[in-house]
Order: sequence, then C-alpha cells, then structure tokens
Amino acid sequence: PWTAWPIHTVDPQQPWTTPNGMALIGDAAHAMTPFAAQGAAMAIEDAATLADAVYASPTDPLAALAVWEQSRRPRVAQVARRGAVNRLAWHAAGPVAIARNVFLKMRTSEKLAADLDWLYGWRAPEADES
Ligand SMILES: Cc1cc2nc3c(=O)[nH]c(=O)nc-3n(C[C@H](O)[C@H](O)[C@H](O)COP(=O)(O)OP(=O)(O)OC[C@H]3O[C@@H](n4cnc5c(N)ncnc54)[C@H](O)[C@@H]3O)c2cc1C
Repeated sequence: PWTAWPIHTVDPQQPWTTPNGMALIGDAAHAMTPFAAQGAAMAIEDAATLADAVYASPTDPLAALAVWEQSRRPRVAQVARRGAVNRLAWHAAGPVAIARNVFLKMRTSEKLAADLDWLYGWRAPEADES
C-alpha cells in the first residue's frame, strides 16, 4: 500500500554559524525539499567552501565563518528555489500541466540543459584559481 512520506525542511532564516566558532553545514543548516536532488550536493559544497574560507583566514577563523555563511546563503537559497519550481512543475495538473508541457515541447534539450548550467556548472571561486 501507498504510505505518506513526510518531507521536512530547516528554516533558512536561522543562523548557520555562531560567534563562538560553530558552523552547521548540509541538512543541519538548510535541509531543503528533494525536488532538485541537491541536498547532498549542497552539503559537499558547504564543506569545500568552508574549508577554503578557514584556510584563507588562518589568524581569524571566526571572521572566516561569518564570511563563509554570507557567501553561501545566496547559492543555497537559489537551489532551494529551484526545488520549489520543480515541485510545482512535476506535480502540476490541469491547465498548469498543459502549459508546462507546451513550454517543454518548445525548448530544445540543449536549451533545457543549458538552463541548469548555473546549478551543475558551479565552481567554488578558490577551485577556479588552482
Ligand atoms: C530519498 C532521498 C533521496 C535523495 N537524493 C538526493 C540526490 O539525488 N542528490 C542530492 O544531492 N541529495 C539527495 N538527497 C538529500 C541528501 O541525502 C541529504 O541532503 C544529505 O544526506 C545531507 O547530508 P548531511 O551530511 O548534511 O546530513 P546526513 O546525511 O543526515 O548526515 C547526518 C549524520 O549525522 C548523524 N547524527 C545525527 N545525530 C547525531 C548525534 N547526536 N551524534 C552523532 N551523529 C549524529 C546521522 O546519523 C547521520 O549519519 C536525498 C535524500 C533522500 C532522503
């Protein structure tokens, strides 16, 4: 039989770092809906960018945490928004589903893939320099 599967998210307004040097990454900081399939990807990006931020600021790791949080928030929020869009598109019914289908039919597969370059083509700034 079908069973309900609850989806829980973490309030994105909550802080991810504390003034005494703690940082939350991944789902603990920003669990999001699964419709963009990016929760683990965001956790990995968090880890890599946090390591870079602390490495870049060895004498002031507390400041590094704050800088890291500020720099990560727009990216994570954009990915979460994409999940919300996907949820709407995948669960659409009636006229909204018809509009979705027409839209998808008009786009080439190349264009559809290119629309996600910002997501899958993202590179940490530090990684670009190496
Ligand atoms: C069905 C499903 C499909 C998914 N598909 C994708 C996908 O395709 N792509 C993608 O990017 N993401 C996907 N995700 C999301 C992804 O799994 C999560 O975003 C990711 O696992 C978060 O990693 P995390 O390390 O932050 O947290 P978690 O993976 O939850 O790790 C936290 C760990 O901490 C442990 N823990 C908890 N409390 C304590 C404690 N008190 N002491 C010690 N240890 C503790 C837990 O046991 C766990 O091992 C999917 C999730 C689900 C459920």
